[in-house]
Amino acid sequence: MCSGRVDLRFVLKAFSSGMDGVFIGGCRLNECNYTTHGNYHTLNMVLLFRRIMEHIGLNPERLKIEFMSGAEANVFVEAVNGFVKKVRELGPLGQGEGINQNALRSKLAELTRLVPYIKVVNQEKLASRLENPDEYDGLFTSEEIEKLFREMVSYYIDPEKCQACMTCARRCPAEAIISAKNQIHVIDQEKCIKCGTCFEACPPKFGSVRKISGEPVPPPLPEEKRTIVRKGKEKGEKS
Ligand code: SF4
Ligand code: SF4
Repeated sequence: MCSGRVDLRFVLKAFSSGMDGVFIGGCRLNECNYTTHGNYHTLNMVLLFRRIMEHIGLNPERLKIEFMSGAEANVFVEAVNGFVKKVRELGPLGQGEGINQNALRSKLAELTRLVPYIKVVNQEKLASRLENPDEYDGLFTSEEIEKLFREMVSYYIDPEKCQACMTCARRCPAEAIISAKNQIHVIDQEKCIKCGTCFEACPPKFGSVRKISGEPVPPPLPEEKRTIVRKGKEKGEKS
């Protein structure tokens, strides 16, 4: 019911499914019937994603938000017709920008995986309420978006410290941690959505999860070297 429900992931799904443009219609700003003002949230999400589109070489005009009341059918028709005309001029997604289709697909898939990270990093700005349209352009800058991707964090489990307590694996929302009893845990970087839950969840006495930024993630420990031999167990077995 509310444009505030239009998540970044929905926009990515539309583009990944081959849509050439995405139009979001929201209630007029400051006319929300509730205290939530979800339309401001959607506006911020659109401003953020338009910058990300620029970053990956897509024309940001393929994503548009307009505000109108339910009684303004004429405003809706004009806005949609204008948008459809614009998208037709831009041509098919990616092709219009000269981006290889496979490269585009993998960029969109990568962005979809990173939605939680992108939202957490931009949490504060996504909650803004910009009253003046002149401020829209400055909410997210190209430099910030470049920094976001350049300094992207990764999480890594230090094999020297991991005690295979399984806490991180149980809490990981993406099932990205390769886990088994008495096996040093390993993060599957392809599945990790960089939410940081494992970093927070690993007991401080172990402190095994490292947050890495701006440097490569060490390669995962080979499977045959992951078994932990407990000292107590060794003694127990001998006696
Ligand atoms: S950051 Fe940790 S908890 Fe979050 S998805 Fe990656 S491995 Fe899982
Ligand atoms: S919570 Fe920490 S010690 Fe426990 S399995 Fe995960 S990384 Fe290893």
